[in-house]
Amino acid sequence: MAGLSNIYVAEALHRAHILPTVLAGTLVTSKGKPRPALEDLAGAVRQVLADAIRAGGSTLRDFRNTEGGNGYFQHNFAVYDREGVLCATPLCSGTVERIVQSGRLTFFCLLCQEKP
Ligand SMILES: [Zn+2]
Repeated sequence: MAGLSNIYVAEALHRAHILPTVLAGTLVTSKGKPRPALEDLAGAVRQVLADAIRAGGSTLRDFRNTEGGNGYFQHNFAVYDREGVLCATPLCSGTVERIVQSGRLTFFCLLCQEKP
């Protein structure tokens, strides 16, 4: 997901129930058509961005709103920066884990982000 902040990537993958370690190539068929998981992910990205915009953006590391103030989206993170915290998905008993991928931090729940 080039161009998206890793905050939004982590949140969108969590909403779409896809592990960050899943290779992008496995989300399309051999003919290049999107699999259902990729369509879920596209929808989750739109949702996360819409939520973030509604909340005024997020301030972690790289964001300031146009007034130079802080956004509020960080209060809605399900997984980002929540290592060791109980997963926010209803009825999930997983704990948020953290890994570094290509030098970027990402966060996920192993229980509800199983392979598509
Ligand atoms: Zn979970």
